[in-house]
Amino acid sequence: MKPAPFEYLKAQSVEEAVDWLARWGESAKILAGGQSLLPLMKLRLARPERLIDINGILTLARIEEEDHFLKIGALVRHYELEENLTVRERCPLLAEAAGLIGHPQIRHLGTLGGSVCHADPCAELPTVLTALEAEVVVQGPQGKKKNIKAGEFFLTYLTTVLGEAELLIEVMVPKLAPEDGWSFLEVTDVEGGLAVVGAAAILKMDKDGVCGKARLALGGVAPTPLRIESLEEFLEGRPIDDESVDDAAGMVGDLIDPESDMLHTADHKRALARALTRRALKEAVRRAET
Ligand SMILES: Cc1cc2nc3c(=O)[nH]c(=O)nc-3n(C[C@H](O)[C@H](O)[C@H](O)COP(=O)(O)OP(=O)(O)OC[C@H]3O[C@@H](n4cnc5c(N)ncnc54)[C@H](O)[C@@H]3O)c2cc1C
Repeated sequence: MKPAPFEYLKAQSVEEAVDWLARWGESAKILAGGQSLLPLMKLRLARPERLIDINGILTLARIEEEDHFLKIGALVRHYELEENLTVRERCPLLAEAAGLIGHPQIRHLGTLGGSVCHADPCAELPTVLTALEAEVVVQGPQGKKKNIKAGEFFLTYLTTVLGEAELLIEVMVPKLAPEDGWSFLEVTDVEGGLAVVGAAAILKMDKDGVCGKARLALGGVAPTPLRIESLEEFLEGRPIDDESVDDAAGMVGDLIDPESDMLHTADHKRALARALTRRALKEAVRRAET
């Protein structure tokens, strides 16, 4: 099917895009890589009257390194997250997750901002940004900017707190220290597909093998990416060995309440969450030790 007719507008600046969003409200949609929006329009599940193309706003395509975080523009493509040396060195977890999105064609078009605003709870980047405690920066009318924690940005399936006249301009991603352990693992139905369940783990280990800080987020088990904070608390202050990893993986099934869908029962998702948590923690602790 072809999309319903729409007007195409190309914004030259963030301010122009925001002005147009404010003027046309929900009849307008931002077009970034189009890898989620266009399929929905072709199926007539989305029928925006106007598309505001932001691909000409080159300031949104930058990656900048600050002392403690990377500032990554909304238009940075998935393949660049995967390949960029600064991202690979300072936040390899993000690069690894970006490399698992779709196929090369999708990764060359799809953008960080698009993935975050589309807010699919099975998508790789929202899960990883939640584990990393990244902050989303949005700009509204009169140049007003605000930072929103990733954990507070996603409201439910395909829904965020982004206002009608707000544009996501960049994401501030905390850098990982070289000695931090990390892992992102997922199970998909088809190669290059969205995760059925995904798990992102970050472990800061003390010299004596005790976990100083743990972060664990799961995708695909709730309407938004889910940080499993009670499991983080369980791991912090303990040695991360086979026993504590098995205990943590055992606990995770009771801490989530996934919904069954046409392909997977809730019990199957729980089992996947347990298996991925076990493997992700083991991989993270191995990386922290080497
Ligand atoms: C075959 C196929 C396989 C795929 N596999 C995966 C996968 O494995 N993992 C995965 O996560 N995704 C996957 N996707 C979906 C897609 O890759 C991502 O969701 C996509 O990259 C979104 O980015 P985009 O730039 O294409 O967004 P678009 O489609 O352009 O936009 C998505 C939504 O976000 C809004 N938006 C975009 N940018 C902004 C902004 N800066 N500010 C405010 N709103 C904005 C748009 O208005 C729209 O509502 C797949 C898609 C296809 C077609």
